[in-house]
Amino acid sequence: MQQAHDGLFIDGKWSPAAAGEWIDVVDPASEQVIGRVPAGDGRDVDAAVRAARAALPGWAATAPAERAAVLAAARDLMAERKEEIAATVTAELGSPLRFSAAVHAALPITVMGTYADLAAEFAFEERIGNSRVFQEPVGVVGAITPWNYPLHQIVAKVAPALAAGCTVVLKPAEDTPLVAQLFAEVLEAAGVPAGVFNLVTGLGPVAGQALAEHPDVDMVSFTGSTAVGRRIGAAAGGAVKRVALELGGKSANVILPGADLARAVNVGVANVFANSGQTCSAWTRMLVDAARYEEAVELAVAAAAKYVPGERLGPVVNAKQRERVRGYIRKGVAEGARLATGGPEAPEGLTTGYYVRPTVFADVEPGMVIAQEEIFGPVIVLIRYEDEEDALRIANGTVYGLAGAVWGADEEQAVAFARRMDTGQVDINGGRFNARAPFGGYKQSGVGRELGAHGLAEYLQTKSLQL
Ligand code: NAD
Repeated sequence: MQQAHDGLFIDGKWSPAAAGEWIDVVDPASEQVIGRVPAGDGRDVDAAVRAARAALPGWAATAPAERAAVLAAARDLMAERKEEIAATVTAELGSPLRFSAAVHAALPITVMGTYADLAAEFAFEERIGNSRVFQEPVGVVGAITPWNYPLHQIVAKVAPALAAGCTVVLKPAEDTPLVAQLFAEVLEAAGVPAGVFNLVTGLGPVAGQALAEHPDVDMVSFTGSTAVGRRIGAAAGGAVKRVALELGGKSANVILPGADLARAVNVGVANVFANSGQTCSAWTRMLVDAARYEEAVELAVAAAAKYVPGERLGPVVNAKQRERVRGYIRKGVAEGARLATGGPEAPEGLTTGYYVRPTVFADVEPGMVIAQEEIFGPVIVLIRYEDEEDALRIANGTVYGLAGAVWGADEEQAVAFARRMDTGQVDINGGRFNARAPFGGYKQSGVGRELGAHGLAEYLQTKSLQL
């Protein structure tokens, strides 16, 4: 792969990092170094925040239609470069090329398109009695993103921030910075003025922390682990600034009696094993009634067999994550869960690459560590329930509440069940993903919403003028 840049993108220019240090980018499938990016530090973050602050008044004053046109141009340029986007994500994340094209490239293009539309449609002003009420940009946004959906998570923050009239400093994940460089090129070519979007690659505890704690950043939008999110939330609270947190999940896939079991299990297993299990909203706990439990285990094992490592199932992102996932698999066995398929050993015949066997655990008790903590690998647990109340108690019985699924013979019954779940997004009987529907968590899965008009509102503050 040809790497385009060896700089940070600050104030419309590619410039070296102050410290002159670098981060290697590794292909998780080959374990080879495929590029390097500058390791920015507090000085670089400071320069980027200054550029974003200086650019704010001009960008905030543009007409929404002008911002909409720039975002539409960005969408078109991303669409022109979609094969390059897919190849870049495959190189640095390891996901199979087909998945990269269908999701890692296609989804952010769709999301960018929704914000091109929303910037034009959104009511930035309304009349309430004798008041004119304006929605104004929050200001300078510090965006910190993870590696699992590298471009999607960037676009889910940067597109609404720009649509709102905010300026941005982005600190992407250190494992997947190359697609962020490509995105900076796209925004520049789309006509985003210098300083409105800035990119500082670097390590989380260095560049990320400097951005999250910078006094001249008005809002921090973070996606990643709950541990880091908690610290960012605490720092934002201390400084009384806006914060949006998209954190972990342990979502329940609830299969009610009477549901189409084969479909629910197949879609459920695919939902977990997509992206090698590295999806915050993955339905990693499958809840099945006692009468059909063994049948569900058999179906899940058969579905898992289709995820051949090195083919349909890519590696996980790095050696540390692989060890973490394998540790959870060992923990599940030690806790007494039944390993229905998979396990902690390397997949047969794959000596290179950070691969993990697709793993299905049965006889899982709701309180087990593998049923409570986010594993972030190709591991699914099947939990037995006695009746609907028991299923609800189990579904709601974690600290998380990001997503979920409910399958039932009757849509109204499934909707009624979903309304009682402590979770931000639930798919009913395989309902399709909606890029305009708000996405985000209840409980410790986060604060705030991304996507659609709700995602745009995160980057706005309200002013009332009484006439
Ligand atoms: P992480 O939270 O460490 O990293 C996410 C982002 O935060 C990265 O850009 C990182 O550089 C930055 N960061 C790290 N430490 C920071 C700090 N002190 N201050 C500011 N920024 C900081 O997550 P990870 O190591 O990439 O993944 C670990 C776990 O997080 C995963 O196993 C998974 O459970 C979870 N995760 C969740 C999501 C999600 O979408 N909810 C995404 C990725 C990872």
